[in-house]
Amino acid sequence: MPSRYSPQELREQKRLRRQRQDRSDYEEEYKQPVVTLLELTSLRHRFWGKVILPPHVGTSECWLWKGPFASHGGYGVFAVRHHLLTASRVSWMISNARDIPQGRWVLHTCDTPSCCNPDHLYLGDHADNVRDMVERGRAHNGQGQ
Ligand SMILES: [Zn+2]
Repeated sequence: MPSRYSPQELREQKRLRRQRQDRSDYEEEYKQPVVTLLELTSLRHRFWGKVILPPHVGTSECWLWKGPFASHGGYGVFAVRHHLLTASRVSWMISNARDIPQGRWVLHTCDTPSCCNPDHLYLGDHADNVRDMVERGRAHNGQGQ
């Protein structure tokens, strides 16, 4: 007897589940900021106090986050009025004095999720983010990250 669903139906269900998951991740990152650039700018001393800054200016090393971390993904989180913001996004906003345009992600050139060095951050779209994650997964496979 065949199972309740044909292989084709099962594939389609799997695809839809994956799509839903992608979309919920996507929307999470897309939510309109609840904390304004102005407020973040006013908190910049507290923010940079949670970042390990290099001893010399002009070096290209990563500036690692030493505050709290998200439960997964290795991303630093910065708490403002009970909202948890991704540290790299806050770094980008403060450093560029700009809001992150809707639909854009802050990505790392250095593949270090906890890095807040503005020189290592750039804006990308969802596809860039997925590609980065795939590449990172491959690069760090077996290194416990
Ligand atoms: Zn970096």
